[in-house]
Amino acid sequence: MTLFYQSTRDVNNKVTASQAILQGLATDGGLFTPLEFPKVDLNFDQLKDASYQEVAKLVLGAFLDDFTEEELDYCISHAYDEKFDTKAIAPLVKLGNQYNLELFHGSTIAFKDMALSILPYLLTTSAKKQGVDNKIVILTATSGDTGKAAMAGFADVPGTEIIVFYPKDGVSKIQELQMTTQEGENTHVIAIDGNFDDAQTNVKAMFNDADLRERLLAQKTQFSSANSMNIGRLVPQIVYYVYAYAQLVKTNQITAGDKVNFTVPTGNFGNILAAYYASQIGLPVGKLICASNENNVLTDFFTTKTYDKKRPFKVTTSPSMDILVSSNLERLIFHLVGNDAEETKALMTALATDGQYTLDLVKPEIFELFAAGFATEAETEAEIKRVYEEDCYIEDPHTAVASSVYQRYREQTKDTRPTVIASTASPYKFPRVAVKAVSNQDSGDDFKAVAELHDLSKVAIPKAVANLDTAPIRHTKVVASQDMQAAVEAYLGL
Ligand SMILES: *Cc1c(COP(=O)(O)O)cnc(C)c1O
Repeated sequence: MTLFYQSTRDVNNKVTASQAILQGLATDGGLFTPLEFPKVDLNFDQLKDASYQEVAKLVLGAFLDDFTEEELDYCISHAYDEKFDTKAIAPLVKLGNQYNLELFHGSTIAFKDMALSILPYLLTTSAKKQGVDNKIVILTATSGDTGKAAMAGFADVPGTEIIVFYPKDGVSKIQELQMTTQEGENTHVIAIDGNFDDAQTNVKAMFNDADLRERLLAQKTQFSSANSMNIGRLVPQIVYYVYAYAQLVKTNQITAGDKVNFTVPTGNFGNILAAYYASQIGLPVGKLICASNENNVLTDFFTTKTYDKKRPFKVTTSPSMDILVSSNLERLIFHLVGNDAEETKALMTALATDGQYTLDLVKPEIFELFAAGFATEAETEAEIKRVYEEDCYIEDPHTAVASSVYQRYREQTKDTRPTVIASTASPYKFPRVAVKAVSNQDSGDDFKAVAELHDLSKVAIPKAVANLDTAPIRHTKVVASQDMQAAVEAYLGL
């Protein structure tokens, strides 16, 4: 049986996995979404001893069912290799009453590496399968981490170009340097005068511009997306939820079949949606706890069923979650309204025109799987300090948001099920925030903070930040958000 991915906005737009990966976004503005979930034999007596790569093959094989076994082996073995600094790829650490699933051992020390290290292989393999020999241009809006991780994956991959937009004042110094020092002849980085939502809205507009698409095709060029709207990003993220569960079985923390909660620090809703998909292929899930920072649109949504983006955008110490329009929520909405594309399209139109929508009837078995909460800046800082004092372990601010939300959830609900916190970044990516939270001292400078963080945590300084302060800056372009398309056309010689 071939699995079909349908646009969330058009019942007639159905494609296979490799077509969905190649297109990125559907041309009608929707997101390609599985209509039903593959049957996967999750036998944890075996899976507990499986490597990350073996779990990946099981999950990817089920969702990307038009890929051959050889193609999957090729993609997986090139992605999850020594780019990761641990053989486990995603180690699980027990801290007090929670388990932190460390998703930051890849080349850019954030969880985006988990999917972006494999996406270039999934994409070039998909193109080959579809007989496409156009040059593929990856267009990406980033709130800080995606852009770098995408470039690390795509740099100098033949037949590809990658253009990354980031909000000039919305990323950390380390994040900015990681991007502006990026090597590779096919990489382009542009800072915009605007926030992440501006960047994302304009990137989406370019994808949906039929005239631009034709002019590109005339030059044997096409866009694709490395954003988490691409199903090729989402599916690899399902893997680590299954893997984490297998580790809990292996270490006798749970018995196969026991339900586990996952708390996920959420921005674009990709990571937590992957956890939902894991539950749909049979992973025993208790609650999926959606953790937000002060940009708490999603907390309100899960409480009231109203999504209302009309509120001030806040710049926080967890910038990768500073988002008012969570793109991947559209996929959950689609499922919540019974895979109804017309209804989903109407809701998304309401969001664009009125800035809000309200769900009327939802499938309770999906909606009730979720819990939600948010952490203020002060709570996040206090949580970093608490975990350090209790476990001598330093969380990054995104992970600390989730950790804080979970601890409050646990107190309020008395739900003491084993809970995994998706730990989405290394503290070395946000060293000033981490050091300040623990020691109450502002290092004043990111690189001084790296050294101080090393003294405090004794964790080795990752390669990703060790040489950043001396690496040459290669990208300096800044444009107004309304000039993004002009910049793309200039790069591509249109
Ligand atoms: C991207 C990111 C998130 C948010 O993940 P989504 O899939 O967008 O919800 C959280 N933490 C970090 C460190 C990230 O880079």
